[in-house]
Amino acid sequence: MRLPLAALWLTLAISVPLAAQPADWTRPFPGHRVIGNLYGVGSYDLAVFLITSPQGHILINTGIDGSTPLIRNNIESLGFRIEDVKILLTMQAHWDHTAALAEIQQISGAEMWATAGDAPMLEDGGFSDPHFGGKVSFKPVKVNRILKDGEVIEMGGTRLTVVETPGHTRGSVSYTMKVREGGRDYDVVIANMGSINPGLRLAADPTYPGIAEDFAKTFRIQKALPADVWVAGHASQYALHEKYKPGQTYNPAAFVDPEGYRAAVERHEKLYIEYLAAERR
Ligand SMILES: [Zn+2]
Repeated sequence: MRLPLAALWLTLAISVPLAAQPADWTRPFPGHRVIGNLYGVGSYDLAVFLITSPQGHILINTGIDGSTPLIRNNIESLGFRIEDVKILLTMQAHWDHTAALAEIQQISGAEMWATAGDAPMLEDGGFSDPHFGGKVSFKPVKVNRILKDGEVIEMGGTRLTVVETPGHTRGSVSYTMKVREGGRDYDVVIANMGSINPGLRLAADPTYPGIAEDFAKTFRIQKALPADVWVAGHASQYALHEKYKPGQTYNPAAFVDPEGYRAAVERHEKLYIEYLAAERR
């Protein structure tokens, strides 16, 4: 379903619930280098990633509406420019990660690339979201290209692989890349975790057909990914605040955490199994 985007946004923006947003979603946090050309430029909890290259940058996620200045400040504090972002990506089409995409697309002229599963929600501002939909929850953004599972996004020497990890949303996606630092290669995973929002239905009358199988596939895929360094959509998910304190000197080892990655995926899988069992009871 396609809706008249601008008109819809203007009429429905006012109906978006603004209550109950955690303060950590908008609390500033300094931009920092994760490893190599991967930087964290989001808020205290909403993770936004900048992958830099001499040919232009890739930006993954935003935060809620109004987070562009925070993201811009973080990018500039690291010596880069938001205007040099060439490709916009997301990990999941929920408003806490997508609401500033349209604005940043306008500022930078960057292309929005998205999976087939999430593109409709990005283009209708979350209206077609089978769980939170029926209203527009963020400003729609035009999708310029559909990403395929396993495809490699190339930008100035960086090769970022698209790994579809559906369930949290139909088109949820993770990314992997290799980073060479200090004579060593690191496998990096930018993981959309398979978390289950309250009220989601997996088995009987599923939120969308195949959602339970999608989650199962995601855990299987994520467990098989080699991860020296990993990050996720929320800082709390990958223990950012334990790994990095503001002002900390760059150290490629700071985010090395293969055990933490494995444990996090397994924790989400366990919650999924329990959720399914509770639904069937
Ligand atoms: Zn979400």
